[in-house]
Amino acid sequence: MGGLYLHIPFCQSKCGYCAFYSLVGHESYIGDFAGAIVNELDGRLSEMALPVDTIYIGGGTPSLLAPDVFFGLADSLKSRACAAGRESIREFTVEANPDDVDETIADIWASSGVNRVSMGVQSFSDKELKIIGRRHNAASARRSYDVLRNRFGNVSLDVIFGLPGQTFESWKATVDEVIRLSPEHVSAYSLMFEERSRFSAMLEAGEIMDAGEDVSSRMFQYLAEAMCSAGYEHYEISNFARPGFRSLHNSSYWKGLPYLGLGPGASSYDGKRTRRTNPSDLKAYLHRFGHSGAYSGKEPFYEEECLSDEELVEEYLLTRLRIAEGICLDDYRNRFGEKEADRLFLKASGLSRLNGDVLSVNKQNIALTERGFFVSDDIIVELMP
Ligand code: SF4
Repeated sequence: MGGLYLHIPFCQSKCGYCAFYSLVGHESYIGDFAGAIVNELDGRLSEMALPVDTIYIGGGTPSLLAPDVFFGLADSLKSRACAAGRESIREFTVEANPDDVDETIADIWASSGVNRVSMGVQSFSDKELKIIGRRHNAASARRSYDVLRNRFGNVSLDVIFGLPGQTFESWKATVDEVIRLSPEHVSAYSLMFEERSRFSAMLEAGEIMDAGEDVSSRMFQYLAEAMCSAGYEHYEISNFARPGFRSLHNSSYWKGLPYLGLGPGASSYDGKRTRRTNPSDLKAYLHRFGHSGAYSGKEPFYEEECLSDEELVEEYLLTRLRIAEGICLDDYRNRFGEKEADRLFLKASGLSRLNGDVLSVNKQNIALTERGFFVSDDIIVELMP
């Protein structure tokens, strides 16, 4: 089983916290780009793990794709992903900016086979939205949610805590509003001051302040308790879902399954030890895949990295301990051998004896508890070889 990810590197404005590869003021390239990404897919079909279970169009801002462009692109993807006529796509997600959502585009998404929309709301405070540089406000986010709600049985909302100007009370109001709207899925991230983001420079210049560990921790605690009381499963550190609505596509990243990532800056993983990453360069990408038809595949555009045994173990621990199921020790033993499995079990058992409410350990499984999610970084570091 495999996933297909498309990175759409266009945005109408740059959010203060964002370090993703996306360009402002390049929308005139969108038409060419849609053709180029299909050419890239054609040249890399042999890398696609079949059957393709999930398609995820992210970015950037995929909701900037005009209805006809989106329809054509989705059609091309589905025809190539459904190899040998097998309709295998279980989840087809598109990311949306609230400002771009209207009845027309939502209808096109639905008729293109999209069955899940992930909308970046980030906050229901107009003041915070302005500070982070979002184009929408709380009222337009609610309107867009209603448009999606009427068409899709699976809607996800993204929110962020620890924002500049955010207080515990305003975060609580955002969480309460999310619960009132009742989406099937919620992703809630702690603000990170990523190196290439505007906020990172502002933090360094003393123009904004970090929320601080205590406040962030209280915010996370409120989020987790409120979401679980409202019937959501806390299935990954930053993700909550109603039963049956966990993100299949993102789960494949956390479970080390293969996926093919297309577009500038996108990464692919073969599920074994090879990672391929396209350079974050729209111009070079269009030069390579635009106009000239299908890509020959002889000289790869991507850069390839072969993960060492040590890196594989680190990556496994980093991703599997993020999910509520944690690590299946039989699977770990099969991948990394008896000696490494014994080391991990002994280390985890010791930690669990010292602090039983953060790590649950038995002969089959090692997993962070709900309390352990709060201190996950420290525990994962402790468990590393
Ligand atoms: S957060 Fe999303 S919408 Fe904002 S600049 Fe980054 S990619 Fe664009």
